[in-house]
Amino acid sequence: MVVCSTGTSGGIHKIFPVNDKYIENLGYLLAVSSLITSKHFSDKIDEKGKKMAFLYNRLESKTPSGLALSSSFTSYFMSDYFKNRPSKCNSEYTSPDQVILCPDNNQSVYCHLLCGLSQREKVVGVSATFAHALIKAINALQIYWKELSSNIRSGHVSEWITDLDCKNAVSAILGGPDPELADVIEQECSHKSWEGIITRLWPKAKFIECIVTGQMAQYIPTLDFYSNKLPIVSMVYGSSESIFGVNVDPLSKPQDVSYTFLPNISYFEFLPIDHEEDMNTIVDLVDVKLGCYYETVVTSYFGLHRYLIGDILQVTGFYNNTPQFRFVRRKNIVLSVNSEATTEQDILKGLASATLVLESSNSMLTGFTCYADISSFPGHYVFYWELKAKDVDDVVELDENVLEECCYALEESFDALYKRLRSKEGSIGALEIKVVQQGTFDSLMEYFISKGGSVAQYKTPMCINSSETLAVLEDKVIARFYSQKSPPLNL
Ligand code: AMP
Repeated sequence: MVVCSTGTSGGIHKIFPVNDKYIENLGYLLAVSSLITSKHFSDKIDEKGKKMAFLYNRLESKTPSGLALSSSFTSYFMSDYFKNRPSKCNSEYTSPDQVILCPDNNQSVYCHLLCGLSQREKVVGVSATFAHALIKAINALQIYWKELSSNIRSGHVSEWITDLDCKNAVSAILGGPDPELADVIEQECSHKSWEGIITRLWPKAKFIECIVTGQMAQYIPTLDFYSNKLPIVSMVYGSSESIFGVNVDPLSKPQDVSYTFLPNISYFEFLPIDHEEDMNTIVDLVDVKLGCYYETVVTSYFGLHRYLIGDILQVTGFYNNTPQFRFVRRKNIVLSVNSEATTEQDILKGLASATLVLESSNSMLTGFTCYADISSFPGHYVFYWELKAKDVDDVVELDENVLEECCYALEESFDALYKRLRSKEGSIGALEIKVVQQGTFDSLMEYFISKGGSVAQYKTPMCINSSETLAVLEDKVIARFYSQKSPPLNL
């Protein structure tokens, strides 16, 4: 079996041969993580509680030599390990396996929502792998809520759900017509504002579970808005190459989340980050030092030997003797048009202050990415933003002053070198925000998926460095704004 990485965090798709141990590891990680969440939330969860989990499958393809090629989650969902998992007998999810296994992601998100709505009183947690997949599910709810409630009213699943296994399983869950529930859904969804929609539709939900560390941090404000600030639990850290760790303290704030490495998964070593790929400086898991930064090096049970993952981590503590790491950033993802190096962290910091400025307008940020434009001189940073009105039926108003202030807020939070090059030397041009049409970031995702990615593992790339990907965005630009003043120099 061969798995394919999404290519959305490192830029390129990679394929890896894996064996059953890989699937077993993934099952083990999910079981450990589910034990930890139920331990932390058990006093608040009644016995019949379920998770509404937006989990997806994708069709397997073949390598040129005919081997099955899929994403890591697909290979897990297709395995006997998933089909015969022990927790299945508790029906831990609101959706039956047939919905998770449906290869058409539009049909499966619809059916996930239908199952979740029809069992709304049982939902204690709402989850997805990465935050992006959860936001996508809320967008689908905005599109389909009238149809979903009419399905619940009549007890029949829409005709366009053509995956028969999926349709039959969902019909069995619907049971029959439920006009009272349909009325509640219509009442909640027709509010002008969708603030708190998750807690309004699923009143017993106690937590949101999805990864919001690293580049997913951009979605925290939107999740807070939809969930009335339910705790966001970021449980697992892994990649197509190997699983790494689990968060043993689910209630920690997203910015404080650390992952405890699971030493039985792969053989982990660590390269101190200032020692440019000098393998002599590698240390073992037991020798990492508190506070230090490292890149993970993996030797796996299925053939990777001292493979550099490309994620930078910081040691934050120990669980018994096992080191815990905070995800800092991807190694090579920085913006630079001159000698400055703007890191993923700088971008996220800038984004946090720009979204504060945006709050004074009627819109919110639903997707972003950026790139360093050096096609003209001086080069400048370009941010692509997709905006959405806070109230469902409103249209986004592009307030020039607010968006120019957002450009400035981004620049103001970059480092001293950026500011010097921009304000004193003039060798970086004014930062630009290009607002794109609604749905652009969905098109970007479809583009990546057409190249072999999967919805479950998709992460909007924080920076773009391929002209093909840029073309997807450039086609959809509807307005451009520039920073009108230079950021102050840090003296
Ligand atoms: P992929 O193999 O395409 O699924 O991408 C794996 C990459 O996603 C990792 O190397 C990380 O950069 C990122 N990633 C996965 N889990 C987390 C997490 N919990 N926090 C931050 N980044 C993550």
